[in-house]
Amino acid sequence: MTLTTNNIRIKVDLNKCTLCKKCVMYCPTYVFSLVKNKIVADSSRCIECYGCIPLCPSGAIKIEIS
Ligand code: SF4
Ligand code: SF4
Repeated sequence: MTLTTNNIRIKVDLNKCTLCKKCVMYCPTYVFSLVKNKIVADSSRCIECYGCIPLCPSGAIKIEIS
């Protein structure tokens, strides 16, 4: 058996996101950035600290693990 890292996807619900940028400022590995007035997430940078989930005031961030 080989150990593999989780295949993790960070999703931002753009209908809920208010562009407060808390996630951009908080994430230790800079997953989130503001591009053309939208939050985009680079899931490959995520270290699964899960801090962004309770941080987002509008509940717009979801983490999917497969
Ligand atoms: S913390 Fe939530 S509402 Fe604020 S910019 Fe990030 S995804 Fe949007
Ligand atoms: S779980 Fe942690 S590392 Fe991953 S996007 Fe959220 S704040 Fe960043």
